[in-house]
Amino acid sequence: MNSWIAAAVTLLSGTALASPALAAPALDGVLVDNVEGVTPDGRGGVERFEGFLIDPEGKIAQIFHKGDKRPKKVAYKVDGKGRIVVPGMIDAHGHVMATGFAKMTLDLSMAKSLDEALSRIAAWTAAHPEAPWILGGGWNQASWGLDRMPTAAELDKVTGGKPAWLMRIDGHAGWANSAALSAAGVTATTADPAGGEVLRVAGSKAPAGVLIDAATALVEKKRPKPRPEDADTAFGEAQLQFLAAGVTTVADMGTSIEDWQTFRRASDKHQLRMRIVAYAGGIEAMQLIGGPGPTPWIDDDRLKMNGIKLYLDGALGSRGAWLKAPYADDAGTKGLPQMSSTQLGNLMSRAAMDGFQVAVHAIGDEANATVLDSIEELSQTYKGDRRWRIEHAQIVDPADIPRFARNGVIASMQPQHEASDRTMAEARLGPQRLAGAYAWKSIAATGAKLAFGSDTPVEPAHPFEGLAVAISRTGADGQPMGGWQPQEILTREAALGAYTTGAAYSLFAEDRLGRIAPGLRADFLFVDEDPMTAAPQALRGTHVLETWIGGRLAWSAAQDGGKAGVRR
Ligand SMILES: [Zn+2]
Repeated sequence: MNSWIAAAVTLLSGTALASPALAAPALDGVLVDNVEGVTPDGRGGVERFEGFLIDPEGKIAQIFHKGDKRPKKVAYKVDGKGRIVVPGMIDAHGHVMATGFAKMTLDLSMAKSLDEALSRIAAWTAAHPEAPWILGGGWNQASWGLDRMPTAAELDKVTGGKPAWLMRIDGHAGWANSAALSAAGVTATTADPAGGEVLRVAGSKAPAGVLIDAATALVEKKRPKPRPEDADTAFGEAQLQFLAAGVTTVADMGTSIEDWQTFRRASDKHQLRMRIVAYAGGIEAMQLIGGPGPTPWIDDDRLKMNGIKLYLDGALGSRGAWLKAPYADDAGTKGLPQMSSTQLGNLMSRAAMDGFQVAVHAIGDEANATVLDSIEELSQTYKGDRRWRIEHAQIVDPADIPRFARNGVIASMQPQHEASDRTMAEARLGPQRLAGAYAWKSIAATGAKLAFGSDTPVEPAHPFEGLAVAISRTGADGQPMGGWQPQEILTREAALGAYTTGAAYSLFAEDRLGRIAPGLRADFLFVDEDPMTAAPQALRGTHVLETWIGGRLAWSAAQDGGKAGVRR
């Protein structure tokens, strides 16, 4: 085995390298040859190739097609043995640390009923007597067939006197037991905070157990914070998951100063194995991380802070998404904005003033219209290449769709949400308001840029699953036949583009990431399915064989022994 491959493999086993420079001897280049290569061409199509040359800096130097002359003298040759090569996937919206912590805390995402969730909680509690709090998440009352939220009383039965705090799968609601509510001082006299709601026991003011959106902060403030060493472990878990799934770059949405320090610690130890572009969770974190403006790319383009992530509304599942008209399944509410449009405009302006990129979470049609209003207004003052981002853009009034392109707004969307949420969306919105739901193709057709991601840990960070949904509008069960709202099915070129070039554009990184092309970083994957031809179900089951970042092997299925596995 060539020494630098050995060094990369050593990295896999967790041994820190003294310096990345030592791991990369002076090379004339690495020739990757005999592959079935496919990459977006940057003009909406794809390009096929047979090989490519990587320069000593880890960038693509040259692409080879059939019959092209290869260089004679290279430092090392990788024989692709006819395997398929695609660019590293970019997850344009994920939560890196939450993805890692989800592995380390109580995970309820597989529970199919309230009873099953309660028995998992009881088992975890018994197995972790040392834990001061019972922490975790992933629950979804909709998938339990429950038409209400779970309660503190139900949680009390399996947790005893120990505080328990469990986040809903979408991160927009938390389920507390009585001990957690009392630790947080949430009582019948606690008012609902702006942008949040304390659910109450029917016919009384007593808290019922579930706190929505801004109200979750009441308990979040009181729960024990993870130690830096726990964060390091969680981050290691997260990196492994991304690399195993073929994600080479992730946009971290809502980075805290502690998260940033975790990324920096990994970088200092040369253990930052993937690329992260951070969007700070609020103005304070933005200023602490970036100071007067976005950070430069550091650590060989592995880390950068671009801007800020703001929340305008909540999620459909907890009826926190802000709609233009009442919910079809609850006429008493239109959901709730987490701030006024004036407050939103002020925060966006505060960030834009110092050149930070702005990404705003908007799920409901009223929330999307409000963010588009703010962008329209701020674009008068903050000119130039701003790349305003709307995160999710799930339910958009068809009348508002053309406004994305008009203001150069990037629609940062997550195909897997469509497959997971379609029946819930039908219930929440009714049949009349689905025309602008998960409307990838309509939004792209107006000329707006799409950037795709997973919202991990809400959905698995698995871009090939997302690609399968994007080209079929069907779920893992192949349902519904022909696809849900099939007019929004994307071409393979458009779907692959949204996970690569489109996502890179959304990060101001199209000059270095997203394609296998000269001058760009050599981030690529060996996979066992061709994304241009595989049937949706085969595409969903794509195995990532090797993940290369900056021209070096960062992860391989053979070395990992399948331990990391790929969730799907
Ligand atoms: Zn998110």
